[in-house]
Formats: sequence, structure tokens, C-alpha cells
Amino acid sequence: MALQVYIDGQLYDKENAKISVYDHGLLYGDGVFEGMRSYSGKVFRLQQHLDRLWDSAKAIALAIPITQAAMAQAVNDTLQVNGIRDGYIRLVVTRGAGTLGLDPNRTSNPQVIIITDHVSLYPREFYEQGLEIVTASTTRNHPAALNPRIKSLNYLNNILAKLEGMKAGCIEALMLNHKGEVAECTGDNIFLVRGGQLLTPPTDAGILEGITRAAVMELATGAGILVRELSLSRHDVYVADECFLTGSAAEVIPVVKVDNRPIGQGTPGPVTRDLMRRFHELARS
Ligand code: PMP
Repeated sequence: MALQVYIDGQLYDKENAKISVYDHGLLYGDGVFEGMRSYSGKVFRLQQHLDRLWDSAKAIALAIPITQAAMAQAVNDTLQVNGIRDGYIRLVVTRGAGTLGLDPNRTSNPQVIIITDHVSLYPREFYEQGLEIVTASTTRNHPAALNPRIKSLNYLNNILAKLEGMKAGCIEALMLNHKGEVAECTGDNIFLVRGGQLLTPPTDAGILEGITRAAVMELATGAGILVRELSLSRHDVYVADECFLTGSAAEVIPVVKVDNRPIGQGTPGPVTRDLMRRFHELARS
């Protein structure tokens, strides 16, 4: 059976899962989304993802036409129909089809889309040997222009930075904010280890408040590691003992080189490896 995609309460074969070309999600990137993982049939931190989706929607004055409970049920049903236990889930809510003008008031029927698929992970060697990343020259969106806390369908800012990373042969790129501080990577949050402490940029550095980020902060605190959210510069990255990224798809992944400079010993460090193991256990518990 073809993979089933949920759109507005109905399931469609993947090839027939379609949205209007007048949808403002397509025309203007006017909509919001989430990316989640399921482990052994259970969605990791589903409620947190739903809360973030609802917050993103609220921030762009988009009313999601179903309840959180109905969304949760639809997610689980779609996973089950597709027989996916360890997978990736993409939730999308668009503004709906409208006129060619920007006016969101002239749209109707926000589309609720649930895609469940097999997860495509970063290659195993990156987890064992660590990633190499570069700093993109594209600045992360200014929070007063389009707040990175909103997981909106307009991801061009991240895509432009990703293109720079890929041109340098890297699968991720570091993004700085408008003040030149470390913000996050194109689809992952960033952490540093320095003197046994875990450091990560605060929300007001202009980042997405990652669900994996929050889980890792809890795990580190539980393990007796001091976690500090503070403004970080590229200097802090270069002199860190360890560096790693977090994201729903990536989980916890070590970074061993930034802008061609080895971080710490140039291999995944002990704190990173410990948190990778703890996260793996938490997600699969
Ligand atoms: N930052 C950005 C820009 C992202 O798109 C994502 C999600 N892919 C993350 C960070 C990580 O967030 P989460 O842990 O909730 O997946």
C-alpha cells in the first residue's frame, strides 16, 4: 500500500496528497510546521511539539482548525496506518487557499497536513567521528523581522545558510545573529562544553527553542553538569573543549571542526558522548 498522507481529516496516497496552488503556504510561506520523531511507535515529546506548533500559529494569527487532542490522535492514527514505529513526522498548517494578494483575511480553510515517513538520518560516521561545520555569512533572521522562535514555512533564511555550508562541503552551517553572536545552525541548536559546563545561546539570541535542546539541558542538569544559557561568540566556539548540535532528526551529534579549526581534541569529547548516550536512552525508554 502507498504511504498515506493526512490532509484535513482524510488520508491520501502519497502521489495524490495535494494542496491548492493558491494556498498561501505555497505563495508566501504563510504557515507553520513541526518535525518530530517516533520511537517504537511513540512520538517523542508530542505535547511539547504541539504546544510549539500552536504558539507558532498564534504568533502569525493563524487559527489551527482542530484541537490538540484531535491532532495528537491524527498523528498516532497516521503512523499506525503506515505501519511506522521508528519514523519522522512532519506537521504542516498552511494559511489555506486565497487570492493572489497577501491578505490573510482573504484565505479560507487552513490545511492541516501530517506526513509520516521513514527517518533519514545523518550518516553513522558523523556520530562516531563528528561533523565539520562552517559559519555562514547569512545572518539569522532578526527577531524583530521574523522571529526564529516561530517555526514558519518561510525557511529561506536557513536554506541560504545551508547552501553556504554545502558549498563548503558541510551538511550544517553555524548562523550568527544580527549582533554577531552565535545563534544556531540551519536546522539544529548548538551547545559548547567549556570547563565542564554546558553552554548554549539563550532564546533571545534569536533561535528556535528546540525540543531536543530542552531535553538535553534536562539530561545534563540531571547528570550534575551546570547548564548556562548565555550569549556566545565565535571565539567561544573556537576555544570550546567540545561542541555538539541537537535536533529532532539529528538527536545529539558531535561537531569536531568549525571553520576549519579543530574543536578541543578534534574528536567527539566525553561530555558529548555521555549526553548522546543519555539522549538515546531517554528517547527509546
Ligand atoms: N533550530 C532550527 C532552525 C530548526 O529548524 C530545528 C528543528 N529542525 C532546531 C533548531 C531543533 O529543534 P528540535 O530539537 O525541536 O527539533
